[in-house]
Amino acid sequence: MRKKIVAGNWKMNTLPAEGVELAQGVVAKSAEVCDCVNFIVCPPFTHLAQVAEALKGSKVELGAQNCAAEAKGAYTGEVAASMIAALGCKYVILGHSERRQYYGETSETLNKKMEQAYANGLTPIYCVGENLDEREAGNHFAVCKAQIEEVVFNLTEEQFKNLVIAYEPVWAIGTGKTATAEQAQEIHAYIREVLAAKFGELAAECPILYGGSCKPSNAAEIFAKEDVDGGLIGGAALKAEDFIAIGKGFMA
Ligand code: PEP
Repeated sequence: MRKKIVAGNWKMNTLPAEGVELAQGVVAKSAEVCDCVNFIVCPPFTHLAQVAEALKGSKVELGAQNCAAEAKGAYTGEVAASMIAALGCKYVILGHSERRQYYGETSETLNKKMEQAYANGLTPIYCVGENLDEREAGNHFAVCKAQIEEVVFNLTEEQFKNLVIAYEPVWAIGTGKTATAEQAQEIHAYIREVLAAKFGELAAECPILYGGSCKPSNAAEIFAKEDVDGGLIGGAALKAEDFIAIGKGFMA
């Protein structure tokens, strides 16, 4: 049985006090959802420690939105995987399209970040997905395949057992446009096939999340698909009620 996961990517939103309040709301409401759903929140670096405190004793886990490609040293402004792990993070989002697009993250950088994540006991949530031009040209399968082959195929089997993948079509992120449940299932099944070519039957255990304008009104339909194991949620993760309502999509 694959893990069911609803992860919130808060991006560059919330001040520390707001983040703590949001985390407390998520903790309080998470009791309304069965324990089979794993909730993760990924606040900005600046309040990971305070949010970790707010999550203590709850079933809600902590993740970061990024980590450095290097272990430590003279890298001004960077935050090492060891640092976020020390603050209580269990997960780290890597390869988000905003980081690929605005900060030039390449597969080469992401390979290093993945190594750092694993070296520090973190589970990467590795994002893949095509932009609108690529989708319209019918290249979405090839784009996702390359993003997986160039990074995930470098993992050992042990590392792969601790990986979450998020399929996030760039055209659906923050745009209000959601992939249909059928589009999500089609590409999730394809991604699993690509993973199976390298990792065999372990591919059946890898959680693949959908991300892109997922909200309470569409989560249940998308999560009902066989190869969709949850969601990576942006905008709707900023309201505890909506975030938890998305998790309830598994109970519909
Ligand atoms: C995201 O950026 O990971 C995301 C899915 O954003 P949104 O839900 O706002 O589209």
